[in-house]
Amino acid sequence: MRSAVDIATAVGSGSTTAVSVLEQHFAEIDARESDIHAFNLVMRDRAFEMAAAVDATVAAGGDAGPMAGVPVALKDNLCTEGIDTTCSSRILEGWKPPYDATVVERLRDAGAVFVGKTNLDEFAMGSSTENSAFGPTKNPLDTMRVPGGSSGGSAAAVAAGFASVGFGSDTGGSIRQPAAYCGLVGVKPTYGAVSRYGLIAFASSLDQIGPFTHDVADAALSMEVIGGHDPKDSTSIDVDRLDISSCLGRGVEGMRVGLIKELHGVADADVTARVVASAEALEAAGAEVVEVSVPAALYGLTAYYLVAPAEASSNLARFDGVRYGNRVDGPDVTAMMRNTRTDGFGAEVQARIMLGTFALSAGYYDAFYGKAQKLRTLVRQEFDTAYESVDLMLSATAPSVAFEFGAKADPMAMYRCDICTIPSSLAGDAAMSVPFGTGEAGMPVGVQLLAPAMGEATMFQAAAVLEAEGGEVRV
Ligand code: GLN
Repeated sequence: MRSAVDIATAVGSGSTTAVSVLEQHFAEIDARESDIHAFNLVMRDRAFEMAAAVDATVAAGGDAGPMAGVPVALKDNLCTEGIDTTCSSRILEGWKPPYDATVVERLRDAGAVFVGKTNLDEFAMGSSTENSAFGPTKNPLDTMRVPGGSSGGSAAAVAAGFASVGFGSDTGGSIRQPAAYCGLVGVKPTYGAVSRYGLIAFASSLDQIGPFTHDVADAALSMEVIGGHDPKDSTSIDVDRLDISSCLGRGVEGMRVGLIKELHGVADADVTARVVASAEALEAAGAEVVEVSVPAALYGLTAYYLVAPAEASSNLARFDGVRYGNRVDGPDVTAMMRNTRTDGFGAEVQARIMLGTFALSAGYYDAFYGKAQKLRTLVRQEFDTAYESVDLMLSATAPSVAFEFGAKADPMAMYRCDICTIPSSLAGDAAMSVPFGTGEAGMPVGVQLLAPAMGEATMFQAAAVLEAEGGEVRV
């Protein structure tokens, strides 16, 4: 059993046990994890304790929650009380947070069972999970290829059957792109729809936590469990609970969907063919598909690589050898901090910190950071204008299917993987990737649905239609 909805129903009704569901998932972990390396930490004993507790609640006639017994994988930048949380960085190796992220707390309350902490590009900076200090994660569909990133470990864990649902963070595409590469559904919620409390910050104005799932119904369930207002996150939107599942069957009759002109054609031919096919599928189901123009979308990448590093340079200043994780001593405090940060951060993280510090520095601020913020406002305005005439927008999730290890050694080539996902991150809107058949080498292709802020329910309605029409993905 792999669907979270099916597992929760079966465990909650007592027709199977959380322990036996977990045993099935651990059989997959035992068979393949040494090759895939989805996890930084496998939490076998804790997982079986959590599963046994769920079974005890059910046996006592209690309500074990909407995710009763669902095996869940957590990206290793989500704080878990007393459990190592590394961000796949040497600087945080061995650090155990004193509290749980709100998402972690909500999942536990919902009856989920945590199987482990998953690998990522260091501090979520990357698109392939090759930038982890602890080695790369392989794509379970083809182990010569990357799973995408930065949440590659969570995507691989779900695709390999190690967990039913994975959670990641998406700053510029880090859930949607790996979901596309691994044949999964991946959601980047509206900024503020899900609490960021306990997510180790990369770029605070962009970061959002979201799920990786096998299907759309599981993604809806996951969003309902983790979403909604949290007083501990001042940017969280004042909505009690997201209601998505009840909208899934409504179809797309009468809906207007805009194919983003500027992003159409930035992808490889095999991917573009699937985007066209997805537009046709929505049309066949009663939607009206039109072309929309969002010219600033193409500048999103440029704006993002100033805004995100600027925020990262500030957020990562706290890792100074004094308060968290590793310390490398020196003759004085300045030397100690320099040694710690030089030794603890990998090359990509150091490059981003320097880029961000430069973009924020006196004399360059207006020319770089200020200009990028203006571009961000332009993207936001153009998205708002587009949504005056369409309900949703559509594009490829990534320009290609999953690529082979080492194929994007040039950082610009790697950054370009996010050209389609970054614009909605800058706008703060909702977006998701839905598998829609296969492309080159039989690898899955993801198409991206984009919705205005808090438009998740409508977005999921269209996702359910694409899922029904998309053809088999071999996961
Ligand atoms: N790949 C992008 C980056 O490297 C996005 C990462 C993310 O969404 N966390 O910054």
